[in-house]
This record gives sequence, structure tokens and C-alpha cells, in this order.
Amino acid sequence: MPLKLEMPLVLDPRAIACVHSGWQEIKAREDGSDRFAAVFYAQLFTAYPQLRTLFPAGMSDQRMDLMRALDFVVDRLEEPDPVIRFLHQLGRDHLRYGIRGAHFAAAGAALLAAVRDSMTERSWTPEAEAAWRRMIAGLVTVMAGGADSEELPPYWTATVVDHIRVLGDLAIVRLQADNQIFYEPGQYVSVQIPQRPRLWRYLSPAIPCNDRGELEFHIRRVSGGWVSPAIISTTAIGDRWLIGPPLGALQVDRESGEDVLMVSSGTGLAPLRSLLIDMSRYGRNPRVHLFAGGEYPCDLYDLETLHQLAMTNPWLTIVPVLENEHDPWWHTGPPTPPVPVGMHSVLYGQIGRVVSSFGTWADRNILISGSPSMIRTTIYSLVHGGTPRERIMHDPLP
Ligand SMILES: Cc1cc2nc3c(=O)[nH]c(=O)nc-3n(C[C@H](O)[C@H](O)[C@H](O)COP(=O)(O)OP(=O)(O)OC[C@H]3O[C@@H](n4cnc5c(N)ncnc54)[C@H](O)[C@@H]3O)c2cc1C
Repeated sequence: MPLKLEMPLVLDPRAIACVHSGWQEIKAREDGSDRFAAVFYAQLFTAYPQLRTLFPAGMSDQRMDLMRALDFVVDRLEEPDPVIRFLHQLGRDHLRYGIRGAHFAAAGAALLAAVRDSMTERSWTPEAEAAWRRMIAGLVTVMAGGADSEELPPYWTATVVDHIRVLGDLAIVRLQADNQIFYEPGQYVSVQIPQRPRLWRYLSPAIPCNDRGELEFHIRRVSGGWVSPAIISTTAIGDRWLIGPPLGALQVDRESGEDVLMVSSGTGLAPLRSLLIDMSRYGRNPRVHLFAGGEYPCDLYDLETLHQLAMTNPWLTIVPVLENEHDPWWHTGPPTPPVPVGMHSVLYGQIGRVVSSFGTWADRNILISGSPSMIRTTIYSLVHGGTPRERIMHDPLP
């Protein structure tokens, strides 16, 4: 649905300066962020106690998410369009917590109370209060608008039909949704598994949406994580997963005529794979160079699929990139096969540096997908090498 961008988040420069300095003050205080988030959730759950049951017992992730989201918003008040898009999606995303119209107003009141609580008497001037009220009203209006615009259910249900342990720490999970889930290739969804109730995590489907409701996710275990180790080790056929509404805007503009550079590492390949499979249904496509990275040879577990795609789609070039020549000693699976004949030979090094060693890629639309640190370092290498930042797309960083 098109966004209405003539929105209330347009603040005058003085109001923006007030919000900026207030936010700095809040975060500069000892335990400022923790206290702010704690006050926010305490106020919200006092207004709507039933909401508390929809959130996990430990709220530390939610508190960090809140502060990161506010950082994003406050940092970009001068150019509100990306903020509006972000908040619109965030509003839709909160439907899975059962959050609806009146709850957003309560969240606005809770935010104002948290700001008020965190600022000194001296800083809480009438001008500061007016600026924060205006900003929070805008934020709440956009989020509530996002939630209202959603015509899809807050989540779908799907049954695990296949669980392939590709590596010790990586699994492919296939599911059959009860109803078709409409998403664009390159988008991601939030997922809840029965072993970890109320802990939603984002995953990117590795295949495009189809009318049979089939889903495929590639999941890597994060050591010490709550959800990913459970997906790898305890997922069983027949498990029922909840799948939230699709989010994100990684996409290839097939009409622009501009070529594309894709850079992935590990399971970050999933959304790009989905885009490539979707593109392979069309005769004409922009040229795509995909640098598919991994730490060890075994991390390129899906090279054969990529090779098959490249063999039948001349617009696609795959370049495997590794940091190490051999699998680690703890890799217990079968030996990793060599790179398929006909594929570009493996390049070695840190993926961002390898990609930027080819030049600026200034004429490409660039999609990067992988761990947060890989995305940051790849952006750094590319921009440092002369690639315009506005050419680069990636999913939001946690
Ligand atoms: C848009 C988006 C799409 C995603 N798609 C996929 C996907 O298709 N496949 C997939 O496997 N994962 C994907 N992720 C990551 C996934 O959502 C979880 O963050 C990840 O599985 C860890 O969850 P957890 O509960 O095990 O760890 P948590 O309990 O959430 O975190 C435990 C600790 O690990 C850190 N951590 C979390 N994620 C990472 C990471 N990637 N690298 C290093 N440290 C980390 C946390 O900061 C924390 O300190 C995606 C994330 C985003 C934002």
C-alpha cells in the first residue's frame, strides 16, 4: 500500500534540536537507556496489563530494540521519509503482539512519561515538552497508520515438513503454511517456534512465495542464542511455527536497466537466493554479480544450487569468496566438494575487501546480506573504495 508521506513527523529545526539534545541527555546519564526503557514498559503494562503476557519473561531484548528504534528515529528527524517507512513497518510488525489502535496511544503516553522521567527539571522546558509531544504524536500516528493499513492477519501458522542439518551449526527448515503467505522475494518475516514461545526472530525465506504455501528457511546457530540453537537442535517434523507479516524492501529493479551487485555471507544468502530464483522466471534481467561468502569451504553449502541457477541464466555470475582454504578440524560432515566445474574460482579474503578490490561498483545497485558485522564492514570497504552509499541496500541492522 502506498505511503502518505505528508506526515506529522515534520518538525521545525528548533524542535529537532530540542529532541536531539534531550535524547543525548537521556543516554548520557548513568543507566539512562535501561531506566528509560524500564519506565516505558512499566507505564505501558500499567495501562494495558494484558499486553505483558504477550512479551517474553526477560525483556532485555525488547528494551534494546526500543532504544535502537528511537536512536534511528531521533537521528533522522531532518529527513523523515525513511523514518516514516520504518515506523510504518514497525506498526505492522507489532500486530503479532496483539498491539492495536488504542495501544499505540498508550505507548505514546508511556514514551512521553519515560522522556519526562529521564530529563532534569532544567531541561524539561515548555519548548522541550512541546517538541517531544509533537515528535511522539507523529511517531504514534505513523505506527498506528501502519497497523491499520495491514489487511493481512497478524501471523500465519505453518507446519515443519523437513529439517535438514546441513552443518553442525546450520539447518534448512521447510514448512507447509496452512494458507498461502504473500511476501516479495527478498523480504523477511518474524518467526516464533513452539520451543521458544513469545520469542520472535526474523528469518528470510530462501525461496519466493508460491501458491502452495511452501516456505524454506536457512538458519545458522548463534552461540548462546535463545532461538537459533533450538531451531538447529530440536526442531521436529510436525512442529507448528507462527509466521509474522513480511517486512523489508531488499529488491531488484528489473525495469531500471541498472546492473546489480549482491554480496552475501553465510545464511545471509537466503533473501538473495529468493530474489535470484524469482528473477530466473523472467527472460530479461539486469546483469547480477553475486559474491557468496563464507568463513570455511563448508559454509558455501548451497553452491550447487547457485551453480545450477548460473548455468541456466546467463545474466548471473557467482563468485565464491572464502576466508580460509580448508574446513576447520571440528567440521565433522562429509568433505566439502570442490567448486563446481565452470564456476568462478574461489577468491580468498575478507569479503568486503575482495568485492571492493574490483573497483567502485558505482554503476550498480548493491544488495548486501549477512551478519550485522559483515554488512557494516562491507559497506565500509565499498564506500571507502568510492561506491556511493545511496547505492547500497541492506536489511535493518539489529
Ligand atoms: C532482517 C533479518 C533477517 C534475518 N534472517 C535470518 C536468516 O534467514 N537466517 C538466520 O540464521 N538468521 C537470520 N537473522 C538473524 C536472526 O533473526 C537471529 O538474530 C539469530 O538467529 C539469533 O537469534 P537467537 O535467538 O539465537 O540469538 P539471541 O538470543 O537473539 O542473541 C544472543 C546473542 O547473540 C548476538 N547475535 C544475534 N544475532 C547474531 C548474529 N547474526 N551474529 C552474531 N551475533 C549475533 C546477540 O546480540 C546476543 O548477544 C535475521 C536477522 C534480521 C534482522
